[in-house]
Amino acid sequence: MTKSSKKIIKKFKGANMDIDLVSEKSEISWKQDLCPWNKDEDTVEHRCAVKNISICPYFCGIEYLDNVLCSYPQKNPNFD
Ligand code: SF4
Repeated sequence: MTKSSKKIIKKFKGANMDIDLVSEKSEISWKQDLCPWNKDEDTVEHRCAVKNISICPYFCGIEYLDNVLCSYPQKNPNFD
């Protein structure tokens, strides 16, 4: 984050998020990496965060702008 962007961008706690890496290629116009857990199990079931329901035990947050921070296969040490 640059000095000027730090003056503009604020952080707000407690976001209720839907985050995943399982969109069909035909549905999106950007490159999307595969979830390593889904890849290992050959599925699309695992999602980073599901609004009002769950957060993946490997999910470690989001880095600007839309990069998922993931600790798979080690559980996020900060996850309760
Ligand atoms: S946090 Fe990692 S393991 Fe969990 S769903 Fe997201 S990419 Fe997959």
